[in-house]
Amino acid sequence: MSRTLDDVLAWLRAYADKIAEEKQYLTKLDSAIGDADHGVNMNRGFQAAMEALDDKAPASIDKALNTVAMTLISKTGGASGPLYGTFFMRAGSAVKGQETIDVSDWASMMDAGLQGVIQRGKAEVGDKTMVDALTPAVEALQQAAEDGDDWGDALAAAAEAAHDGMEATIPLIAKKGRASYLGERSKGHQDPGATSSYYLMETAAAALGG
Ligand code: ADP
Ligand code: MG
Repeated sequence: MSRTLDDVLAWLRAYADKIAEEKQYLTKLDSAIGDADHGVNMNRGFQAAMEALDDKAPASIDKALNTVAMTLISKTGGASGPLYGTFFMRAGSAVKGQETIDVSDWASMMDAGLQGVIQRGKAEVGDKTMVDALTPAVEALQQAAEDGDDWGDALAAAAEAAHDGMEATIPLIAKKGRASYLGERSKGHQDPGATSSYYLMETAAAALGG
């Protein structure tokens, strides 16, 4: 079974709602090892992105993701705005012109998004960033696509892998971004960006996995 533009829009809406719900929590995480704005940044960006999508109905999956990307780049402050902007732009480009997507397209989209984040932010796994949640999720999706898993199984595996990656950031010393200024003191705290990246996979499982 393939997924359509409407399914992708449902995912984006679910993500915007999740960010709004978790705004305080994300900001609390960022107050421990950053400047206490991750929840506020992400919420501002995603509320604006939803407004942009409501204002002008996108004609295709890649155009919807491009609108989200452009809005995030212009409206979300901090390091995460351009990084998530790049993520959505690359994810859209991976399925340019396609009306429907299957599990292997989704794996390609998430991988393209992750590669964009890595290119732009130069973080590696273990640097205590969103890359730590996205990388295992992409690996799980690629494995699922190879095994011919259905959407439900593939997205559940990706969400679980992202969750583990997010929790694995807790003992790490940050090597990139604002948290890296803290050095050893960044240990013992979950990375805010890894947390918002886990929500991407969690909401995908809920919106596209059924
Ligand atoms: P800022 O750090 O500028 O205040 P945010 O608070 O919105 O921006 O986002 C912080 C998150 O951005 C971090 O938790 C981390 O996951 C992510 N991040 C920061 N720098 C990088 C980078 N170079 N590569 C990947 N992710 C990064
Ligand atoms: Mg911050």
